Order: sequence, then structure tokens, then C-alpha cells
Amino acid sequence: MRTKLQRDYRKVANIQNDLLQKFTTQLVNDYDQIVIEDLRVKQMMMAHVASKGLQRSLFSKFRRILTYKCDWYGKKLIWAEQTYPSPQRCAQCGYIKTGDEKITLQGNRKHGTKHNEYICYECGYQNDRDKNAVLNLLALAE
Ligand SMILES: [Zn+2]
Repeated sequence: MRTKLQRDYRKVANIQNDLLQKFTTQLVNDYDQIVIEDLRVKQMMMAHVASKGLQRSLFSKFRRILTYKCDWYGKKLIWAEQTYPSPQRCAQCGYIKTGDEKITLQGNRKHGTKHNEYICYECGYQNDRDKNAVLNLLALAE
């Protein structure tokens, strides 16, 4: 039983490694600049998706492989600071929500906004929460 489990574990690890290699190669082939946000910021959101340990070790492996491949191929790799407020920042005016203005997994109670909508209280800009966050990450590449 133990040997079988070890064999299965190795098989899973090999598949993961293979996927990581293919995925990172595709990224450096397709893009000259890559912006990555550290998943640890999103730990709370991801907790229900995968076990934290697994997620973290996979992510650090992904990070390591992507870093050396970007190096090899002369591609620019930008890491968003763990504290970079991509979900809270307005992609249009740069306003950053704080305190009870913040968008949470339940939306914003004070303003009655939904969890998937970003509404800027400064300039009135509206977008899907994830799309707004991605635009904020892309702003780092400019
Ligand atoms: Zn704004």
C-alpha cells in the first residue's frame, strides 16, 4: 500500500511538473512582459480551492521556473508587491479604497455593492472586480 501511494504521489508530481514546464514555456513564448501577482495575498480567497501547503509549494515552483525562463529568453518579469492593492485600486484614477470603503468577498456593505463589481467612490468608474484588478496589474508593466 505504501509503495503504491508513493508511486501515485510521484506520478502526480511528474504531471504537475510537466504542466508547469509547458505553461511557463508558453508564457515566455507568447509575452515579452509578464506581470504576476503573488497568490499569498489571495490566500483567504483560495483557501477553499486547494490545500494551502500544496498551493504554496506549487506557486513557489512556478515562480522559480518562470524566473529562470524569463532570464534565458530576455523577457521582463514583474512581480506585484504582496501589498499591492490590485482589487482596491481604481484602474482609472488610482484611488485606493481603505477601511469600510474596501471591496470584500461580500462586496461592500456600506455602499451596498456586490462582490463582483468595482465602483470608484472618487471618479464613479465602474468595472467587473477582477477586470479592474487585472488592469491595475497591467499598469505596473507600463
Ligand atoms: Zn476612480
